[in-house]
Amino acid sequence: MSSIARALRPALRQSRGITTKVSSVPRCSRTIRPFNISQQQTRCLSATPRRLNDITDIPPTPIDHLSEVELAMKETVAKFANDMILPKVRDMDEAEKMDPALVEQLFEQGLMGVEIPEEFGGAGMNFTAAIVGIEELARVDPSVSVMVDVHNTLVNTAIIKWGSTALKKKYLPALATKTVGSFCLSEPVSGSDAFALATKATKTADGYKISGSKMWITNSMEADFFIVFANLDASKGYRGITAFVMDKDTKGFSIAKKEKKLGIKASSTCAINFDDVEIPKENLLGEEGKGYQYAIGLLNEGRIGIAAQMTGLALGAWENAVKYVWNDRKQFGQLVGEFQGMQHQIAQSYTEIAAARALVYNAARKKEAGQNFVQDAAMAKLYASQVAGRVSGLAIEWMGGMGFVREGLAEKFWRDSKIGAIYEGTSNIQLNTIAKLLQKEYTS
Ligand SMILES: Cc1cc2nc3c(=O)[nH]c(=O)nc-3n(C[C@H](O)[C@H](O)[C@H](O)COP(=O)(O)OP(=O)(O)OC[C@H]3O[C@@H](n4cnc5c(N)ncnc54)[C@H](O)[C@@H]3O)c2cc1C
Repeated sequence: MSSIARALRPALRQSRGITTKVSSVPRCSRTIRPFNISQQQTRCLSATPRRLNDITDIPPTPIDHLSEVELAMKETVAKFANDMILPKVRDMDEAEKMDPALVEQLFEQGLMGVEIPEEFGGAGMNFTAAIVGIEELARVDPSVSVMVDVHNTLVNTAIIKWGSTALKKKYLPALATKTVGSFCLSEPVSGSDAFALATKATKTADGYKISGSKMWITNSMEADFFIVFANLDASKGYRGITAFVMDKDTKGFSIAKKEKKLGIKASSTCAINFDDVEIPKENLLGEEGKGYQYAIGLLNEGRIGIAAQMTGLALGAWENAVKYVWNDRKQFGQLVGEFQGMQHQIAQSYTEIAAARALVYNAARKKEAGQNFVQDAAMAKLYASQVAGRVSGLAIEWMGGMGFVREGLAEKFWRDSKIGAIYEGTSNIQLNTIAKLLQKEYTS
């Protein structure tokens, strides 16, 4: 199969040609709302500069309208997921391990460098292209989806946005073609209260030294590249938090434990240790003391990715079940999916999936337009993870005993759905964010 990224390049270039016509439109650091007639001031809370390709020429359209490039991404990833991932899903889940050959294919297909500029070997596409790719992967395997999601939306974005020229040249080509990345923020003492982290960085003659440990780090078995948050000046509280980049073979770094999990079992999640790990000064990411700000920006974007993962998961679970109840299983002389009690649940579930997708795409488009999308991202993640749990649970019931056994994928979708309410901010944390922003808006 040829590379997805390569196949989409002509369409992408064409869309960029259109973009140049409107290149005078300012980037997100300035105040502009090309789609908002109210012309209110907006803040750019995205970790990525605003990208104009694909969206500026689109007149008011349905929220699930995709550009030619995004649509091609959706279709080609769907085919790749069905042809190459689906046959491996059950085995990878049972083995609790991502197939290394599949990881290689993800790189070959350009899915690990969706937003990395072409000059660094990436696909140079936009955020929504990454989001639809994550959604399509999750429709088949949420574990593969989260690997691609964390790598693209957290790791690559951090380097694209805050990496020095030297860091970009050194790491982006590798991140686009062969090196898996991890994002290391959470710790034994800091989960929801992420910035209470205890990992310490100290200055040395040549750079920095990191000591401490991290928990729950996605991709850490496969990764050779880590973005690590540590506090360089605890007296400043969260304002001391600083981001560093680290290679896996750095002395003092070790994987302490691989977690055994309820779901997304093929995605590795590990506790890792830093025992006086020496970090050269050129591996400082951005500025000292800005790690807090970077992590918030990245997680705000990343939540849209998790929301896309949960939307794809919900659709995958729904499709898996309706194929069975509308084609195979008969009781009382008719297909079980033809009973009205079943049809209403099936229709309700599909409606909820469509609503989740609308929230996801709306948040993604607002991010790309340089608008404030924090509340939208939180609502998308909250709702999509609820829908994923609800629909994948019902899908098991629609399939009866066949949904409960490990022969098919119904039970796996349900197990995988639970993580949506936990990582990149629990559902309560999303609700806190939504309520805080609403209260601000509605308080005089
Ligand atoms: C499979 C997996 C993969 C992960 N991958 C990564 C990764 O790659 N990188 C990384 O840095 N982290 C990762 N995490 C960590 C993840 O982000 C945290 O688990 C998450 O932020 C929740 O933290 P916690 O588990 O410590 O829960 P806690 O913070 O202990 O929360 C426990 C409960 O208390 C509630 N709670 C806490 N504070 C409040 C509050 N203020 N108001 C209301 N309720 C509250 C929570 O909602 C939750 O229900 C991963 C976790 C898992 C399980």
